[in-house]
Amino acid sequence: MHTITIAIDGHSSTGKSTVAKELADYIGYLYVDTGAMYRAVTLFALQNGCIIDDTVDEAGLIEKLGNIELSFQKNAEGKAEIILNGKNVEKQIRTLEVSEYVSPVATISEVRKKLVEQQQRMGQGQGVVMDGRDIGTVVFPDAELKVFMTASPEVRAQRRYDELLDRGHAISYEEVYENVMERDTIDSTREDSPLKQAEDAIVIDNSEMNQEDQFHVLLQLAKDRIAGRV
Ligand code: C5P
Repeated sequence: MHTITIAIDGHSSTGKSTVAKELADYIGYLYVDTGAMYRAVTLFALQNGCIIDDTVDEAGLIEKLGNIELSFQKNAEGKAEIILNGKNVEKQIRTLEVSEYVSPVATISEVRKKLVEQQQRMGQGQGVVMDGRDIGTVVFPDAELKVFMTASPEVRAQRRYDELLDRGHAISYEEVYENVMERDTIDSTREDSPLKQAEDAIVIDNSEMNQEDQFHVLLQLAKDRIAGRV
């Protein structure tokens, strides 16, 4: 069967990973959460002395990039989890501490080059749903389906806050709101591969949509592209 590449980009905490994964499972495609890869590099930086006085030591991290090996492994429920140098760090990468440093780390061109190359290899020759910030613009500029997901900052911060609370993190809504806004600003203004909507992307504002609605919209778009109808 004809397979396609599906690129899902968008702002922080739009819930794109959840719906991208659901779509990939449904149509039997590989799902790649590229945000998890940038988060794992950030965790490595935190664990290896590359964040000093709240600042990312870019030269130090670049020097150690060769020591970072990332892969994904499915857990018992079939959900792909990220492995950093042989260790499952799926939980550790979701903390607010990692969220605070991930956007500065993601501005480093050497980091992006390493991860983009791996992402392109992972998506080669098979049906893939990949989500991130630069998938439709840089990683797979020829993707058959490009979606740009967004929602109001308040809705996104609330969703993120609920998720962190659920996982037992003690944080305030204000802290989460600030982090979401700050990541948006850094991600969209960085020099290398800024977050922006690809010209041929379909925009989905999911502020007023539940997960099921989003899934059905995405599924229809994917079916049309796979059948070559669009
Ligand atoms: O998707 P998630 O919110 O987990 O991504 C965390 C961060 O990783 C983003 O805020 C962004 O700085 C960076 N990122 C990126 N390019 C991607 C995916 C994520 O720069 N393709």
